[in-house]
Parts: sequence; structure tokens; C-alpha cells
Amino acid sequence: MQNGNIHFFNTLTHQKEKFVSIEPGKVKMYTCGPTVYDYIHIGNLRAFLFEDIVRRWLEYRGFQVTQVMNVTDVDDRTIKASKALGIPIKQHTECFIKAFFEDIEALNIEKADYYPKATEHIPEMVALVKKLLEKGYAYRGEDNSVYFAISKFKDYGKLARIQVGDLKAGARVKVDEYAKEEASDFVVWKAWDKDDGDVFWVTEIGKGRPGWHIECSAMSMKYLGETFDIHCGGVDNMFPHHENEIAQSEAATGKKFVNYWLHNEHLLVEGKKMAKRLHNYYTLKDLMAKGYDPMAIRYLMMSAHYGQQINFTFEGLEAARKTLERLTNFVNRLLETNGKPAGDKINQLNEGVQKGFEAAMDDDLNVSVALAHLFDFVRDVNNLLDNGEVSKEEGKGICDLMSKFDKVLGVIGQVKEKEKLSKEAEELINRREDARKNKDWKTADQIRDQLKTMGIVIEDTAQGIRWRIEKD
Ligand code: AMP
Ligand code: ZN
Repeated sequence: MQNGNIHFFNTLTHQKEKFVSIEPGKVKMYTCGPTVYDYIHIGNLRAFLFEDIVRRWLEYRGFQVTQVMNVTDVDDRTIKASKALGIPIKQHTECFIKAFFEDIEALNIEKADYYPKATEHIPEMVALVKKLLEKGYAYRGEDNSVYFAISKFKDYGKLARIQVGDLKAGARVKVDEYAKEEASDFVVWKAWDKDDGDVFWVTEIGKGRPGWHIECSAMSMKYLGETFDIHCGGVDNMFPHHENEIAQSEAATGKKFVNYWLHNEHLLVEGKKMAKRLHNYYTLKDLMAKGYDPMAIRYLMMSAHYGQQINFTFEGLEAARKTLERLTNFVNRLLETNGKPAGDKINQLNEGVQKGFEAAMDDDLNVSVALAHLFDFVRDVNNLLDNGEVSKEEGKGICDLMSKFDKVLGVIGQVKEKEKLSKEAEELINRREDARKNKDWKTADQIRDQLKTMGIVIEDTAQGIRWRIEKD
């Protein structure tokens, strides 16, 4: 069957539905990206990791995915934060954009195809606001800002399941974030006021700046078209952000905006959402500075089903590290095996784990069930290995299967390469590390050159040293 039998829980319909893409074999997906007013925390990264798994699973099933992740570099929060520091907004957001890319790289999150910045898409936003004004879905308030009239859009509330019938006519909200109970006409274009300082654009619809929600409508439709397949984000974004995106986009185009809405649950700390305003957050850099391996963090956050909350604890992180170690030890054992052939036993196990893994992932990305299949398999193959079974060739076949799964999980890639390092190269790398610690740069450079002649390239990154084997 082409592209498997994927089912997703669609927030829009509140049902698990078979995934059918608009264009066969291709998927267009939009994922709300970071608001770069500060360093992102690992709760945000849970959302990006979930979206990474969505993308990787679609790719596993043979889809060609076009993913867009926006960067919110102008909104209430970025303006407030840069103002508090007294620096231009661009200067303020730039360093957090850089840090965001470092974080996603450290977590082995596949790159999206586009990372549009809001500040670089003002004309598209203005065009959308103009269309809403022309069609009578938006109106100008006495403050000169433009508001979306939710009573004009009959489907308003369909995503977050709210009734808007008894709202006070004309009640308005100008801030980007508000509660369901405050649902009312929301701002799409904010006329400049003194709190915005030097953050404004002079446009056909006046001097001002876009509302947060219109940013995502304009950028998603620009890159993916007026109707596209998948839109993701954390559950906190469902209302008002995604509800408003639907209203603005569908009102403007008269077409369905998105077919499948997927929302990840939160990462919690002691039962509360990890959030900046609650001061209960960790950044990836905090954890890495404490010595935690980003792959264990990745494993911890992607191993639970995305629809389940995860409570972050250091015990949980330690358990994730140990579990991951079991997987990497398993691969290492397979690389070394030279036992007697296990024949059909291996074939059956391989077939069984592949079936189980794929069925679980097809079933709304049930990673925890997929991993349960994988660990049963690890146990069974380890038993064979203990009995001196599993030939070199069979070991290689299983490694290939593990690599295939790891294209989705993204947690054990480096290990196989590491195994291929000779003892001599490992010793050299360790000696070079010692030299660097002692600030003996000359020796460190000499060792780097020596490794280079052996075909091993060393890179010193913020996360520590990385190496790769250079193939001719
Ligand atoms: P923001 O930068 O606040 O716009 O958030 C970026 C992404 O992180 C959005 O998809 C949010 O829904 C998501 N998010 C924020 N906090 C958490 C959390 N504690 N757990 C999971 N996802 C989160
Ligand atoms: Zn968004």
C-alpha cells in the first residue's frame, strides 16, 4: 500500500482519521515556531520534537514533506522584552534565533524547509488584512487598529469547541493571548501606540504592526497554499491562536484552511505546564551544562505519546538515559557478533518487530507502543546472542533494521559510527581532549592533523567535540 495506513487524531473533528494527503505522495505541513523573545525551554522543544516525529514518520512512509516553521520575531512579547533591555528588537531577537537553531540541531531535529520570519512578511500580512476589510470580515476600531469580527464568521470556535452565540457584540481584545472565556473580536493589525516605540511599519492600512495570529495565516498560505495538509502546535496554541488562524484564512479565501490539526500535550513540572511565566523551566543549554546528553532528552520527550502530558523529572531523564543505553549497547553487540546463524528465528523476529513498530506508528504516532515492540525484540535477540547465536551477516541485517527505525527515532545514529573508530583513533581523541583542557593548543592541533590523515575529522562545537569519518 502506498504511504502506509497512517491515522492521526484530528483536533478539528475530535476523531482519529485516516491520513490522505491533498496531493498523492506529498505533504505540506505548518508548525508554529518559536517566539524569540528569550531562550526557548524544553517544553517548547517537546513541541518541535513531536513535529519532527510527524515529519519523520511521513517520510518513512514515503511522503515528500514540505515543512514550514515560522519564527515569531515581532509580537507583544518580543516588543516588551527588547524594550525592557532598551535595545532594538532585531538585535534582541537575533541571538535567540541563533540559540534556537543550536538547540534543534543538538536534539537532532530535522530541518524544516522554510523558517519564515514575521518581520520579513509584512506585505503578505497587510494584503491579508486588506482582503478581510474588503470582504467585511474585519473593521477598524476607534483606535485605528483592525479587528476581526468573529460574529461574521459562522464557524468561529470550531477548533476549540466554543460557543460564541452569547458574546457581547463588539467586545474586543487587542492583546495576542487571552482565554476562551474572553473570546471576542480580535486584533489583526495593531495601530501604532507609544508602547510599540520604534517597532512599526508604514503601510497601506496605516502605521502599525501585525497581530500575532495574522502572521501565521499569511506565512503558512504563502509557502503552502490556501489549503494544506497538516498544522501542528502545542495544545496551548489551539485557542486563540489556531482558532483565529482558521477564521482569518478561511474568511479571506473562502476555502478550507487545513485538513488535519495535530496538537501535542504539554511538558509539565510538578504538575504544571513548563512555562517562562511560571519560572519552572529548563533550557536545553541548562541541562547540557549539567552534563545531560541531548539524546537522552530527545528520547525522554519523544518516547511518550504526543497526546499525553509528560512530567519532567531528573529521575525520568536518568531513566531515559539508561533505556537509550540499552539500545546503543544492543547495536554495539550486533556489530561485534560472529555467532552461529539463527536463521528463521531471526527472520521471524525481524518481521514481527517491523510490523509491530509500523502499526503502532501508523496508529496516531504511538511511539510508546512502537518502542515496546522494539524492546521486546531487543530482549529476544539478546537471548539469542547470549546463546552464541546470530551470525555476522544477521547482525548486520538487524543493524540495518535498527537504522531504519532510527530514521524515525533519531537517537542512536552516532553510535554506529563510533563503533567504527579504531582504538588508536579513540586514544588520540582522548589525548587531544586532555591537551585542550590543559590549553596545549599546539598538541591539540597536531593530533587533529594526525586524525585527519587517518580520515577522521574533528569539530569543536558548543556541545563538545564531534567527529566524523571522511569517506573518499
Ligand atoms: P511559543 O514560543 O510560546 O510560541 O511556543 C512554541 C511552541 O511550544 C508552541 O507550539 C507551543 O504550543 C509549545 N509549548 C509551549 N510550552 C510548552 C510545554 N510546556 N510543553 C509542550 N509544548 C509547549
Ligand atoms: Zn503560529
